[in-house]
Amino acid sequence: MNNTDIIGLHQQFVMNTYVPSIPLVRGKGARVWDADGGEYLDFLGGIAVVTVGHCHPHVTKAIRQQAGKLVHVSNLYYNENQPRLAQKLVERAGLGESRVFFGNSGAEANEGLIKLARLWGHDQGRYEIITMRNSFHGRTLATLTATGQVKVQKGFEPLPVGFTLADFNNLESVRAAITDKTVAVLTEAVQGEGGILPATPEFMRGLRQLCDEKNLLLLCDEVQCGMGRTGKWFGFQDYDAQPDAFSLAKGLANGYPIGAIVAGPKLANLFQPGHHASTFGGTPLACAAALATIEAMEAEHCLENAAKMSELFMGLLQKLAKKYSFIQTVRGKGLMIGVICDRPCKDLENLMRARGLLALTTNNLIMRFLPPLNITAAQVRKAARIFADSCAAWQQQLAAAPQA
Ligand SMILES: *Cc1c(COP(=O)(O)O)cnc(C)c1O
Repeated sequence: MNNTDIIGLHQQFVMNTYVPSIPLVRGKGARVWDADGGEYLDFLGGIAVVTVGHCHPHVTKAIRQQAGKLVHVSNLYYNENQPRLAQKLVERAGLGESRVFFGNSGAEANEGLIKLARLWGHDQGRYEIITMRNSFHGRTLATLTATGQVKVQKGFEPLPVGFTLADFNNLESVRAAITDKTVAVLTEAVQGEGGILPATPEFMRGLRQLCDEKNLLLLCDEVQCGMGRTGKWFGFQDYDAQPDAFSLAKGLANGYPIGAIVAGPKLANLFQPGHHASTFGGTPLACAAALATIEAMEAEHCLENAAKMSELFMGLLQKLAKKYSFIQTVRGKGLMIGVICDRPCKDLENLMRARGLLALTTNNLIMRFLPPLNITAAQVRKAARIFADSCAAWQQQLAAAPQA
């Protein structure tokens, strides 16, 4: 099938929930190819999922081997990979005595966090969770209600009860949202969909103190900013604040579906048989993919590389910000980088793709870059060159058709 065949078939039979751009059929490292042979440098990484690059040989080998050995048995039986992966996550989280629950996606992991919090507060009649404006927590009914963006909620009312919004990076607004029903505060350390906006150190530290003072749980959604993305294993580790539990998904298994909750001492032993479950959660195959991803990250020093390549890429982008007045700022952490434009930048994304660079517009005004964590300096320079060419082309377009 060529590009046209794939697009035609898709448009006939697949629900119209997305607006895909090009059909991709093959990937290697930071490069992907479409069905007509077009090559792209992938600085989106499947939205912060492809941690060590497409079809990483170590991960591919682990998936192949495990697929030939045992794929799924259900959680009625032990499997060797699930506890090994749980141990690795617990050790890297550093929350003290912790336990892990495995699911299949970010939304499912956040649902688990919400259930943990509700169960913890149940005897005291506390169930309200404070979440942040512009956050993103998923598309299930509970997680879209937790999400601080009206656009994901519209049309699906009535929404579940028990969620209250506060302003990100505004501790007083969180304090003001607390009632006698509040049980937890849920936040990302770096807002992803909301626009690649890092929490301030004062906010994260303040949240931890506030939660301690009011006997609330601090929950972190690490679905996008976790697994090395920020240059630390987990986004909260850049701050002087530890959550009571956090969720993971996107980058955990390099593209193989998996989600997880890591719960620290207050919550690790709360769920008991019957409280929570997931048929596909923590299969031998998913856990093998995640274990291999972590091994590859360590072998290739991905945390250090993310920090180093972040500096290089941000520096190159800052130069362009000086040159083009439509770029307002460049911000982010590690390889979670946003270029904030003064107008909707979908056209810029299209110009980049036409020149062989994939990235994604988020929140209308923000060009978001989430490359693999083992990206090389040469690839970063190439991406910056293509981005510069695309900016020049956009500048010309804008000059030819000025905004009304
Ligand atoms: C993507 C994302 C989710 C939802 O993950 P799914 O796997 O799509 O359900 C939740 N939280 C954050 C921060 C995300 O970026």
